Amino acid sequence: MMRQYELVERVKSYDPGADEAMINRAYVFSMKAHGAQKRASGDPYFAHPIEVAGILTGMKLDGASIVTALLHDTVEDTTATLEEIEQHFGPNIARLVDGVTKLSRLELQSDGTRQAENFRKLLLAMSEDIRVLLVKLADRVHNMRTLDFIADPQKRRRIALETMEIYAPLAERIGINDMKDELEDLAFAQINPDARVSVMARLEFLRTKGGNLVERIIAELKRTLDADGVEVSISGREKTAFSIWRKMQRKNVGFEQLSDIMAFRVVADSVENCYRALGVIHSHYPMVPGRFKDYISTPKPNNYQSVHTGILGPERQRIEIQIRTRAMHDVAELGVAAHWNYKQNGSPTDGKQYRWLRELLDILEHAAGPEEFLEHTKLEMFQDQVFCFTPKGEVVALPRGACPVDFGYAVHSEVGDRCIGSKINGRLMPLRTQLANGDQVEIITSKTSSPSPTWEQFVVTGKAKARIRRFVRLQKRTEFVDLGRAILQKTFRQEGQPFSEKGLDGVLRNFKCEEVDDLFAMVGEGLVTGREVLVAVFPGLKQPAPQAPGKVVPIARARAPKAGAGLAIPIRGLIPGMAVHYARCCHPLPGDRIVGIVTTGKGVAIHTIDCETLESFADTPERWLDVGWDVGEVTQELVGRLNVVIANEPGSLGSLTTVIGKNLGNITNLKITNRSVDFFEMLLDVEVKDVKHLSNIIAALRATPVINSVERARG
Ligand code: MN
Repeated sequence: MMRQYELVERVKSYDPGADEAMINRAYVFSMKAHGAQKRASGDPYFAHPIEVAGILTGMKLDGASIVTALLHDTVEDTTATLEEIEQHFGPNIARLVDGVTKLSRLELQSDGTRQAENFRKLLLAMSEDIRVLLVKLADRVHNMRTLDFIADPQKRRRIALETMEIYAPLAERIGINDMKDELEDLAFAQINPDARVSVMARLEFLRTKGGNLVERIIAELKRTLDADGVEVSISGREKTAFSIWRKMQRKNVGFEQLSDIMAFRVVADSVENCYRALGVIHSHYPMVPGRFKDYISTPKPNNYQSVHTGILGPERQRIEIQIRTRAMHDVAELGVAAHWNYKQNGSPTDGKQYRWLRELLDILEHAAGPEEFLEHTKLEMFQDQVFCFTPKGEVVALPRGACPVDFGYAVHSEVGDRCIGSKINGRLMPLRTQLANGDQVEIITSKTSSPSPTWEQFVVTGKAKARIRRFVRLQKRTEFVDLGRAILQKTFRQEGQPFSEKGLDGVLRNFKCEEVDDLFAMVGEGLVTGREVLVAVFPGLKQPAPQAPGKVVPIARARAPKAGAGLAIPIRGLIPGMAVHYARCCHPLPGDRIVGIVTTGKGVAIHTIDCETLESFADTPERWLDVGWDVGEVTQELVGRLNVVIANEPGSLGSLTTVIGKNLGNITNLKITNRSVDFFEMLLDVEVKDVKHLSNIIAALRATPVINSVERARG
């Protein structure tokens, strides 16, 4: 286990300005917090955070990262709290530790590589500070190094798979290749131990056969380059067992055919010398065709730069050579951390950065000094996305601002269409709730449910929008067709004429309709009146309808409705905003006497027969429609609006709501319209089943002492 002073010295060696006292305090705090806890290996638990800190010193990370590494498991695994961390180490360290803790709580709940990419994005999005991710990765490296101590083979395998699918690619993504190699190889040892053993055995055989081949090749290459006056440093190594295995799988070749079991790196002091070194090597050794790649002039998308070539080397074996500058080398090895080092040491960066890091680096470029460098490294690239879980643990990526309806449609069109409610992290939440990273979302569906036009106002995904619009269009059309058919049936019957769909075929062209449903829809929508169609079918009926226009007084109709004659068009609890909707002035309820007013292009508005608004339609009787309730079909709760005058005294509002609640009314809106010393006047919207339900509530309210008067609001 690394000693306290060793750790401090290591950090000071590359970051002389690091807060030595804070590192010491963190070391002691962590040791005390973990106390007698033991790792699966039997080591004191405290050895783990120190090892993690040690891994990060290898990457030359700043003091804050080291302190965070020392504290990273204290909140999750000991009695220490985030508040204590903040007290002792300040808000920045607390924020970093909190970030690592949150990442540790996330676990990919379902296996399946399909989910891995989204999960990686989730981790990136959750690590608002790049240091959070670096500490998490170092944590994983140490856990993988000690994986063999875990007794449960299934658990070992799960952790190894997670490492292979999530953490190794993450390390690669942020450019830390050494870490990626190590994570992959450790996971490989767990997932496919037999394969690894055979690769290792083969390597061992080649090693004994060739002696210290790697050294000999390095020496020979160095001599060749020196002779031509090219100043370079050369290193060589065997590739990891996993990368050899993967190549054998991918290229479907045997071990002997693999050219690059050994890789050599030539590091030059300038780009120019890289190409000079390449020239020297190619002029001394035969080049293996198809192996040459110039990533200096054309960097990889993650901004990796190097020239790669394959040659028949000094001892006639195929070897791979990578040639790069020191800066390119550090970027290839350390990725993001390398950028930080350059800032730290005041060396210039070459400006060509990782494409996905560009935004981040913009911030860095404008940071005042090296200390601020990592402070401001927010991972911006997934800030426009949120990642949520299904109850089965699958990750769903959505644009920021998405709601449960978007989630439902992302899972499956049917789930979206049938959605009636949602649970977020186990709690029932409104469908319009904005989802946050890591939310677990459960969509409650009902077979009889369908999309609501109001959803369109808050969904953000194109898929949800398109599905809702399509549904509304179809639904509207269906309703207009039904309504138009009913209007025509009624008009024909009133005139004593036979009605049949076939009878309409002859006049379709008059109305520029292709089929009879088109005509129904036009009538339903109010674009064509029933009488116009009637006259078209029976041209003899030219004279106006018996009820003379202008003489129909709504109130008179109210007193003598043509009820019972079977003429009324049945109205169900329909979806508002479609062919039929309830007027907002009078809030009709099932059981109320009602009348429909046809509005061109909008279908029919239903009013109560005594609504004052109706007076404005007295001159247009052709727009009036006899309608009645289709009782027994009403499933939807409707809103009744009440005018209430209530005593201005303590508890009176409580009495009001209690009475309504006891009578199973649900208050959906309350507005005080007038207040005086003695009384409040208010408008109250109450969800009820029908007019009888509302009448019960009114009666109960009238019997309540603090309530002065209750009336239904009209007009
Ligand atoms: Mn840990």
